[in-house]
Amino acid sequence: MDMASVQHVAVPPFYAAQGQECALFEHAARQCLPLLIKGPTGCGKTRFVEHMAARLQRPLVTVSCHDDLSAADLVGRHLIVGGDTVWCDGPLTRAVREGAILYLDEVVEARKDTTVVLHPLADDRRTLHIERSGETLVAPPGFMLVVSYNPGYQNLLKSLKPSTRQRFVALALGYPAAEIEAGIVATEGGVPPAVAEQLVRLGQALRRLTEQDLEETASTRLLVMAARLVASGLDLQAAAQAAIVDALTDDADTAAALAEVVSAALGHGQPRR
Ligand code: ADP
Repeated sequence: MDMASVQHVAVPPFYAAQGQECALFEHAARQCLPLLIKGPTGCGKTRFVEHMAARLQRPLVTVSCHDDLSAADLVGRHLIVGGDTVWCDGPLTRAVREGAILYLDEVVEARKDTTVVLHPLADDRRTLHIERSGETLVAPPGFMLVVSYNPGYQNLLKSLKPSTRQRFVALALGYPAAEIEAGIVATEGGVPPAVAEQLVRLGQALRRLTEQDLEETASTRLLVMAARLVASGLDLQAAAQAAIVDALTDDADTAAALAEVVSAALGHGQPRR
């Protein structure tokens, strides 16, 4: 199963920093320390890691974790190819061999048995033991473990174990400050600054309203998606309705409340549907 290929990106993709996170990443990389990035969905965690990998000229292996993801999925397994049994490295083993940055997105989703392979890599042993072949790999200096999770889910069954989290240097990202986010929405969405500013104001109003009630809120990602629809010619209200309101909820009452915020923030009366 090839879940993740090794990405070599020469030119860093656009990333607007929220604070000192680029310096922190560089220092952690230099000191061979693993990094835990916390933050809500769509706030730029993945883009940040892609940007830093390219900036440090390191290959990047990304794995989106899910509740079926096991240690064997990460380490590798034997496959039958044309009647022969062949060992096939998983993304973790590949990243260790190549001295890559391994990014485990939403790491708390993965099965508990993955901690057994992650712990020795995340502390100063920096080793990966491959049980099936009896091989023990020592990670080269270029290898860096980066994991992310969304603490907002409030799911006690799916929080990070203290013994895991204390192996990592932690970085908390939120949604960027308004002027930074407007720059992101303008650049990524391809809209003029005034449109980007309107969408960011809308995002902020929605966040005030939704943070307690909804699992997800108007993320930078959703604002960028709305901006792209506008750049393509859709009117702003329709774009906000499709990319933000209807993307966030299936509940009619909640959708109506959100649509009111959209109308008020964009100042055009009732949203068109
Ligand atoms: P996360 O990994 O936190 O869920 P992503 O990194 O995938 O979020 O961000 C979603 C999208 O939002 C990106 O594809 C990009 O268009 C935009 N984005 C968010 N934050 C930034 C940022 N700081 N700089 C540039 N683009 C950003």
